[in-house]
Amino acid sequence: MEQKKLGFGMMRLPLTDPNDQKSIDVAQVQQMVDEYMAKGFNYFDTAWMYHRGVSETMVKECLVGKYPRESYTVTDKLPDYILRPDRTPQDVFKTQLERTGLDYFDYYLIHDTNAASIGTFEDYHCFEFVEGLLEKGLVKHIGLSHHDGPELLEEILKRHPNFEFVQLQINYLDWDSLGVRARECYEVAVKYGKKVLVMEPVKGGTLAAVPDTVKNLFKEAEPDMSPASWAVRFAASLPEVYMVLSGMSNLEQLRDNMSYMEDFRPLDEKEMAVVRKATDLINENIAIPCTGCNYCTVDCPMNVQIPTVFSLYNADLQEADFKPWSSHEELYNNLVITEGIGVASDCIECGACEDRCPQHLAIREHLKEVAAHFEGK
Ligand code: SF4
Ligand code: SF4
Repeated sequence: MEQKKLGFGMMRLPLTDPNDQKSIDVAQVQQMVDEYMAKGFNYFDTAWMYHRGVSETMVKECLVGKYPRESYTVTDKLPDYILRPDRTPQDVFKTQLERTGLDYFDYYLIHDTNAASIGTFEDYHCFEFVEGLLEKGLVKHIGLSHHDGPELLEEILKRHPNFEFVQLQINYLDWDSLGVRARECYEVAVKYGKKVLVMEPVKGGTLAAVPDTVKNLFKEAEPDMSPASWAVRFAASLPEVYMVLSGMSNLEQLRDNMSYMEDFRPLDEKEMAVVRKATDLINENIAIPCTGCNYCTVDCPMNVQIPTVFSLYNADLQEADFKPWSSHEELYNNLVITEGIGVASDCIECGACEDRCPQHLAIREHLKEVAAHFEGK
């Protein structure tokens, strides 16, 4: 089956209640899936933790049963944090098949290898388990998603040579960043002959909402192209990239993505120079490089809406110089008065979130900055 390079990431689906990750706007998701399939795209990416399990059930509701099995491919992933002696990888896999309504996955990944998770994956023999699924035909291709440095990635690929592909966070802002080291990880994957799947090409929306200086730069170069298009095309232009996942949150984003990925053309050298210039301009502005992945909120005892308050803070700092009234402050204040929702000052500094953050952010310190900015605390 021919595969266009735009994957439908099901981790940021449209919601009916922005404070409830399970409140999926099913009608809109269905329309998104239908339009995506109608244009000849066919790659869907889900995971156990996305939308607290509901992303997997959306696969069943909006895709499986409505389309012939051979017309689409689905990726799911085995996470570490839910494994216990009484919940083995076998149990997790069985539940994932039930939730999605599938009897095999096209792609199956060890989800989020990093220094904290790798011990659990080894203890539960997850790599061997996933290789066994491949032998039994229950998955067609196997890989891993990686959120750590190139050294650990190399170690894993050496130890587990049968894994065929690596999913990496790649976008133009992280390409040479000291925190994410996207280029170095990509180079390790290529060195070991692996195909690369890209996650976070738009860095959780950050590269769609770029500062005006960058918007103008892009407009000057290509008046009809959105800021997000530059980010997705940058990732898709890398030679070993097989698929670029975009976590699409509404029909508008989907249509924009499809408009330039339907007949994809890689960035040329002149366009790459524009992207490098944009990187420099953005780096002058961004305060907290959070991707909005939501991993950190899973264990927070205070239900602090970490990515939301970081995003409001970043956006507010980018606009503060020229706007007398701040919509971000208003949105933040709405969170403060919402029962059951934690804001920055509710943090009790337990640190559980930092263990989960793939970007290795000093979340507690950043929350203090946010509390000082929005709450005067
Ligand atoms: S450190 Fe704060 S934000 Fe992080 S999990 Fe603990 S209470 Fe939540
Ligand atoms: S703080 Fe880290 S874990 Fe939390 S949403 Fe941002 S990038 Fe993800």
